[in-house]
Amino acid sequence: MPEADLFARRHTAAHVVAQAVTELFPGAKLGIGPPIDDGFYYDFDLPRPLSEGDLDQIERRAKEILREDLPLEKREVTLEEARSLFADQPYKLELIDDLVRAAEERREPLALSTYRQDGFEDLCRGPHVPSTGLIEPGALKLTSVAGAYWRGDSERPMLQRVYGTLWETVAELEDYLQRLEESRQRDHRTIGRSGDFFSISPDVGPGLVLWHPKGAMVRYLAERFSQEAHLLNDYEWVVSPHIGKSTLWETSGHLDFFADAMFPPLTVDEDKYYLKPMSCPFHIEIFKSRPRSYRELPNRFAEFATVYRFELSGVLHGLTRVRGFTQDDAHTFCTDEQAFDEVVHALRFSLYILRTFGLEDIRAYVATRPEGKAAGTEEDWEYATSVLRRAVESEGVPFEIDEGGGAFYGPKIDLKVSDVLGREWQLSTVQFDFNLPARFELTYTGSDGEEHRPQMIHRALFGSAERFMGLLLEHYAGAFPTWLAPTQVALVPISNDQIDYARDVAQQLGSAGYRVTGTDPGERMQNRIRRAEEERVPYILVMGRREVEAGTVSVRARSEGDLGPMTLAELRQRLDDEMTIAVPRRVVDESAVPN
Ligand SMILES: [Zn+2]
Ligand SMILES: [Zn+2]
Repeated sequence: MPEADLFARRHTAAHVVAQAVTELFPGAKLGIGPPIDDGFYYDFDLPRPLSEGDLDQIERRAKEILREDLPLEKREVTLEEARSLFADQPYKLELIDDLVRAAEERREPLALSTYRQDGFEDLCRGPHVPSTGLIEPGALKLTSVAGAYWRGDSERPMLQRVYGTLWETVAELEDYLQRLEESRQRDHRTIGRSGDFFSISPDVGPGLVLWHPKGAMVRYLAERFSQEAHLLNDYEWVVSPHIGKSTLWETSGHLDFFADAMFPPLTVDEDKYYLKPMSCPFHIEIFKSRPRSYRELPNRFAEFATVYRFELSGVLHGLTRVRGFTQDDAHTFCTDEQAFDEVVHALRFSLYILRTFGLEDIRAYVATRPEGKAAGTEEDWEYATSVLRRAVESEGVPFEIDEGGGAFYGPKIDLKVSDVLGREWQLSTVQFDFNLPARFELTYTGSDGEEHRPQMIHRALFGSAERFMGLLLEHYAGAFPTWLAPTQVALVPISNDQIDYARDVAQQLGSAGYRVTGTDPGERMQNRIRRAEEERVPYILVMGRREVEAGTVSVRARSEGDLGPMTLAELRQRLDDEMTIAVPRRVVDESAVPN
């Protein structure tokens, strides 16, 4: 089914649910009710909190309305009509006032419309399906209710947000619910807590993540691999501060177009300093710190930079929406002629890193010039967009064109990966920038002895280390591949008689760089095994009298089960094989770049 059609059905379902709620709760005050990814929601101000039983009742009534096959009628209304129609709906009146203001600002005539079915009329632009009968009642389900501040503002009333999901067929709904259940079990917040990977403390502040030893170990391994791979692939490492003066953010334009996402400034000696929301201006200052010649380009500066962005507390979510996060950020400064090779370089490197983490299902989206104001000339956009497009083609990545989806300062490639449950995560971005080189007046001396403006390409790979960790926790459900597992080998001596032998094994594996636990005496064998299984440790080595005498260990692999007795040398061979993936490789000149 075309996306737009499903969108109209979901939007219609939101109206139908609102009708059901107003019938069951006369006097209900209505907020907004848009369609979203898997369905829709609607916000209500009600005299009491909704229970599970209420949701069932609302859903039953909504399905009846669908079966009644009621037409949806659109009506243009004047401002006066709208105000009297929604006289007892304060939130709708506020929306009407906003529409009036927006129309005035844009110097456009005010266009107000409503949609009506069965006497229920809602302020709405549409689109909707022509009749409720076009929606399969069995494909609708109300999933949950949650508190939501009106307009996301914690100073405004807390409304009740009813979430629903709607599909074309009953089978699609069932499929969705099954995926939902699986993703609930894999929720990184649940695994993060039960596995002792990370926490968020109200005393530290919302959206600020504390990494516990196990989570920090996975993150360290991921970052160490990535950093070494960067250096092997011709990036230069740089480090920049967490704060920068207001003049920097004025020049960069962040205080104009990004101010809402920045924390309020700190004032030091009359100067204002801002926590950095991005690292680009710092890398630009490194480029600018001395004259540059065409001979030394491209410059590729990379950093793991912790940045801070203000997000409303209502939208914060585990590791995926946070207020402080670490970007694996890189900026390339190059000549026009180098731009294509540089995009291929960034793309090929990103694909290599993502695939190493077991993310194979990757799609690219090439975002082109947006409507309205944009930095750079028409030719800049055409050239850069064709460079991006040729680069994804040459790397053989399936891609789509996101028409008009670029930022005002340049076109970009977004890489999205699908996890084991088929959910798409936006990770890497390769972005042209026609804005900052001009704002900072960047130049290099060309072979003609003249000053030229360099091309600037932003590249984020994990995007955010926090979100990437959230993705890995859910993708692997805590069962990390051997190279990323916080504990790789758990030792299980059957009794205290084998503790010395276990310590010897631990010493040998440990000195080879493996992460081993289980040499404390006194714990019962069954407890050791259970804990190692709960922690999804890749290898469990059981050792009793027989193993000590034979100089072996009995190996249980997480993925393959019981492997029987092995010598330590045999086990080492197996582990070493699994670790080869974690040895960074040079990939940027693996194959010739077709032009
Ligand atoms: Zn509507
Ligand atoms: Zn940047």
